[in-house]
Amino acid sequence: MTDLRLVPLECGWLSTAASSVVAGANGDVDLPIPSWLVVHPSGQTLLFDTGLHHDLVDGVAARYPLMARQFASRFNPADRVSARLEDVEIDPSSVDKIVFSHLHFDHCGGTALVPNAQIIVQRSEWTSGHHPKLIEHEVYNPADFDLGHDVLKVDGTHDVFGDGSVICIPTPGHTAGHQSLRVNLASGPVILTGDCVYWKEVLEEMLLPPFGFNHEMQLDSMRNLKELRDEHGCRLLYGHDASQWASLSQSPTGLI
Ligand SMILES: [Zn+2]
Repeated sequence: MTDLRLVPLECGWLSTAASSVVAGANGDVDLPIPSWLVVHPSGQTLLFDTGLHHDLVDGVAARYPLMARQFASRFNPADRVSARLEDVEIDPSSVDKIVFSHLHFDHCGGTALVPNAQIIVQRSEWTSGHHPKLIEHEVYNPADFDLGHDVLKVDGTHDVFGDGSVICIPTPGHTAGHQSLRVNLASGPVILTGDCVYWKEVLEEMLLPPFGFNHEMQLDSMRNLKELRDEHGCRLLYGHDASQWASLSQSPTGLI
């Protein structure tokens, strides 16, 4: 039996004014866009989010004209989640599960390239993702995620493999059905925060985006993750933290 593995996959970058993602922040930020591969000891594979859509080789406006007012992308064919999987010798068509933190464009763009996985998403997120007004404003685009995959809609905490090794933890606020993923590695528990926490300083100072579903809910979710980190020994891997990202091993072995 091999150990549970967690492999970070770099699926492009976005850049924007920091104030467009964190209220009151100064300057510009570069945001890594991760997908995270989990390899279970049984051999089953899971992705947490799928990165940017491959249309973004031609820029954000090629797919999301409204988002292009705020975000610029750096994306080349090697950043497709399918190419990143092949780099670590995983056939994209063999991936068993995709867990979505949420359905914003930078978290589900590569879904078409992982055709046979079962999607696991909070029910409230799936509902939001089909809301006509939110689609009109490009908050969601069902063409990114509603592609005929088997979809398991969950309500609250969910034990993905039924053995306590990988657990969906609801962290709502950024969106209605945002969730984080706890991965119990042999070296200790890790939590993929998704966009509940973009980067480390945001959590230290409890900073919020200028948008979001519910700020009070997000603050509660952030406090919950902070407590898991500070009092329960969980290592947090943040959603878009360029300096933490640079420190992670992107070898096929990943984190064990
Ligand atoms: Zn988001």
